[in-house]
Amino acid sequence: MTTLSNNLQGIHARITAACTQAARAQDSVALLAVSKTWGAAAVREAFAAGQTRFGENYIQEAVDKITALHDLPLEWHCIGPIQSNKSRLVAEHFHWAHSIDRLKIAQRLSDQRPPQLPPLQVCLQVNVDGGSTKSGVRPQDALALAAQVAALPRLCLRGLMVIPEPATGFAAQCALHQPSKALFDQIAAAALPGAQRFDTLSMGMSADLEAAVAAGSTMVRIGTAIFGGRQG
Ligand SMILES: *Cc1c(COP(=O)(O)O)cnc(C)c1O
Repeated sequence: MTTLSNNLQGIHARITAACTQAARAQDSVALLAVSKTWGAAAVREAFAAGQTRFGENYIQEAVDKITALHDLPLEWHCIGPIQSNKSRLVAEHFHWAHSIDRLKIAQRLSDQRPPQLPPLQVCLQVNVDGGSTKSGVRPQDALALAAQVAALPRLCLRGLMVIPEPATGFAAQCALHQPSKALFDQIAAAALPGAQRFDTLSMGMSADLEAAVAAGSTMVRIGTAIFGGRQG
């Protein structure tokens, strides 16, 4: 077995153990493999090992890979910042975007989504711990933005994405993740028009997967623990 397929198996084992520990269903947490900086060959290898969902941060790099891998039935998620001048590439090439932090970008994505494609599946990125240098909508503004985004015709609002500050230890990580889960539940409970499929809490990376699952994550984004240290 290759290192990559070993690593993938290891991550699935961690997700399964975390679900058991949290008394959650095994299939309640999806794995997004973050392939940024890795080439098309590494993605092909991960696909051969059973992985179909991939996350990318750098839009032009991602579009080159998506084009090169068009023969495979892959699902591509944009998890990096989206500048106005890159929104068209996201609208035309990705299935999901997790990093919606303002209405202007959401509006452009909706306007630019090609009519022959299904709606773009989107999450709002929330700056949960209020770091002034981080992207993401402020928690107190998330519900209002969710209502506006849910109303856009070519987007389907699926949930929230968070990148909390790194913390050490399970308890400290859980404490950071809990407010995100509470905000997610609050927006879900609002039952916004157009947000019938609000079901995704994109939370947890290689170092805090267990705490994220304990707190209610439904999609973990894992790079290093699958592909190894980043290239370039
Ligand atoms: C790079 C990245 C990840 C993956 O992080 P690892 O520590 O490599 O698992 C997850 N989410 C986002 C937004 C990233 O940029």
